Amino acid sequence: MSLLKILVINSGSSSLKYQLMDMDTNKAIAKGLVERIGLPGAILTHRPADGEKEIITAELPDHNAAIKLVLEAIVHPEYGVIKSLEEIDAVGHRVLHGGEKVSGSVLVDDNVKKAIEECIELGPLHNPANLAGILACEKLMPTTPQVAVFDTAFHQTMPPEAYLYGIPYELYEKYKIRRYGFHGTSHKYVSQRAATLLGQRIEKLKMISCHLGNGSSITAIKYGKSVETSMGFTPLEGLLMGTRSGDIDPAIVSFIMNKEKWTGDQVNEFLNKKCGVLGISGISSDFRDLEKAAEEGNYRAKLAIDVFVHDVKKYIGAYAAILDGVDAIIFTAGLGENSASIRKAICDTLGYLGVSIDEEKNQVRGQEIDISKLGAKCRVLVIPTNEELMIALDTKEIVSRQ
Ligand code: AMP
Repeated sequence: MSLLKILVINSGSSSLKYQLMDMDTNKAIAKGLVERIGLPGAILTHRPADGEKEIITAELPDHNAAIKLVLEAIVHPEYGVIKSLEEIDAVGHRVLHGGEKVSGSVLVDDNVKKAIEECIELGPLHNPANLAGILACEKLMPTTPQVAVFDTAFHQTMPPEAYLYGIPYELYEKYKIRRYGFHGTSHKYVSQRAATLLGQRIEKLKMISCHLGNGSSITAIKYGKSVETSMGFTPLEGLLMGTRSGDIDPAIVSFIMNKEKWTGDQVNEFLNKKCGVLGISGISSDFRDLEKAAEEGNYRAKLAIDVFVHDVKKYIGAYAAILDGVDAIIFTAGLGENSASIRKAICDTLGYLGVSIDEEKNQVRGQEIDISKLGAKCRVLVIPTNEELMIALDTKEIVSRQ
């Protein structure tokens, strides 16, 4: 079965992003964003690939109403991009958490919906919204196949020594407390693109993929499979990020709770929203603001960048040890794709791995590029991530198999 058009849906608690992908060209024909679902003043911004953006306001009490509006926009006589919903061959949904049961993308059926529901405890902000998106599409397009693509699935290949924490095994069995890892769709996509760019089979490559954005994670990928990743039971673990603390001594949690008289929920909210480079700098969670402030002599902005760079180097070193050597390091996401200075700072002390980057190539933006000097043993690649395309490709493969 040849699939031509796939709708990709990424629903959050009050927002929903979508892209209608043309699978001939692997490009989006239209994309958009619904904001303020369930709140007053909901708004849809719809962008046809070759037309003006359209802003539509409406009352959207729930995800069903939001997806109905998206589908109306896609087939609208003026700003729509297809004539009928029947032209959509399948829908791919981004789902945050699949727990331990899901190790790949799957065609949605009752068992898959149950698995997403069972993981609500592990992904309380995202999984309910992801499920609502699936249910809405099922209702509005009952004969169109739906595929769920999980952020955790790519990391299910990690061995127990990478995913177990140093707590009693009974807690793992009872509550499923373990490392899951996130950004899986992005790490999978960039590692596949890296193999293509290097002209080598992924089954022969050891790579470290650095997804550095507002949320950041690093993954060790051995022969195409995730063997270790920095995010853990939740996306709070690992590198310090825009507003998340990343790794801290767990004893700090009860220490802050006692000092500030906070509840567990309060300290969790604090570690997710007020820490990271925002907390250290006191200025911003955005690295563009930090780089500017650091250039102007702001000590804490420079400190925040330095701690981040130090953290990334530490993980790269650790993962090089786990992999027993590295063929390529990949930079992706907002910061990894755009900040030449952060890439340079990270790569400066990686000579021991055979890293040596070309200053000029490092300045190139927005395209897949190998920024290594000729002959460098470990290649350094910048690969713009494209989670929507990865979701569409997985959806195409799964639906084609039916
Ligand atoms: P993402 O979460 O992947 O959308 O990445 C967003 C983050 O990327 C922003 O918060 C910025 O910190 C960072 N970023 C984006 N563009 C640049 C840039 N040109 N220079 C430095 N940082 C950037």
